[in-house]
Amino acid sequence: MKTLALLHASQLVTLAGPKRPRIGKELSELGIIRDGGLLIRDGKIDIVGPSDEIEKAARGAVRAGLAIVDLGGRVVLPGFVDAHTHLVFAGNRLEDFERRARGESYEQIAKAGGGIWSTVEKTRGASEADLFAQAKKRADWLLRCGTTTVESKSGYGLTLDDEPKILRVIQRLNNETPLEIVPTFLGAHAVPRDTSPDEYVDLVIDEMLPRVAKEKLAEFCDVFCERGYFDIEQSREILSAAKKLGLKLRGHVDQLTNSGGAKLMAELGATTADHLEKTDEPGIAALKTANVQPVLLPGSVYALGSTSYPRAREMIDAGLAVVLATDFNPGSSPTPSMPMILSLACTQMKMSPAEAITAATINAAYSLNRGDKIGSLESGKVANFAVFDCEDYREIAYWFGIPQTHSVYVRGERVR
Ligand SMILES: [Zn+2]
Repeated sequence: MKTLALLHASQLVTLAGPKRPRIGKELSELGIIRDGGLLIRDGKIDIVGPSDEIEKAARGAVRAGLAIVDLGGRVVLPGFVDAHTHLVFAGNRLEDFERRARGESYEQIAKAGGGIWSTVEKTRGASEADLFAQAKKRADWLLRCGTTTVESKSGYGLTLDDEPKILRVIQRLNNETPLEIVPTFLGAHAVPRDTSPDEYVDLVIDEMLPRVAKEKLAEFCDVFCERGYFDIEQSREILSAAKKLGLKLRGHVDQLTNSGGAKLMAELGATTADHLEKTDEPGIAALKTANVQPVLLPGSVYALGSTSYPRAREMIDAGLAVVLATDFNPGSSPTPSMPMILSLACTQMKMSPAEAITAATINAAYSLNRGDKIGSLESGKVANFAVFDCEDYREIAYWFGIPQTHSVYVRGERVR
């Protein structure tokens, strides 16, 4: 049996609390233990408490294999849970990035051969091994930022063979890197150029989804519900079919226009509704009634040069269990950094640092159906946590643009 005692965190941010997503004032309750420590046995958290208590328990249980780590007055947080990413793709979108800086519009960039199609073409052309090598580097970036679990979507293949290819790469990343990855099928990310929208919806429903379900390649199904992509009716058809196959639902909704996407996710009993930049009061009310968790992605608003951030304060006041995520992707949000997202949440969406941390850990864990295993530092949970080189948890959101991660542990093992 392997035992690890970690002592002397200036603040051990436990997020201990009710066994459900946090709402309202609960988002501000971090359960901080000053001069805190952890006792870890076989990759799981055994005891959480003040350092002297942990030290006593560790000494009392002296055995071969006891290791003691002095945290040196640093802040400890549960590993971030990033509940919305697009991790597996080939190449980058540097041309688009520069064109946008010159003031070109999305349409102009698409016309010049940029946009999602350039990524789809490169991803289709890449071998599984090549995609894995590229994504492995990004998985390491995520760990370096203190993230230990991510959700990751397919969606840059858009054919019957290329979508499963991406999901298999996700599976391999999950098996071969310390990062835990939750797979989502996003075949309905865009309509391929050589196919009519109706034909493509049929392909997704009749062939892609059954194959993904049969091969157990995804836990969730997602749709890009937006004008020019998949409308409400098509999104409903695809998500309903996914639900019948036992997949849980997430959705890219109300990002560019308020099309009623939030209401659709409520109607279908989805786990999350993501983006929500344009969601208004009735949409927020619908999410509340159906207990759908909003996943807010300020990184994409920022990187697209927009100022249209989702209404986080109204959502918190309405009692929604808000989640924050990076939306890591090559086009609209090329950041793996959850600390950067915390900064944006505080400065642009007026969330407090404590609310942002709750949204990026325990609430995110519940949105991935893993709230009972990760997202907080409590006895019995998996020992996934990050140590930050600061004394106060608020510094993680405050000093932006500088990595403060000191070390990262997954299942009780130091991986960074
Ligand atoms: Zn996305």
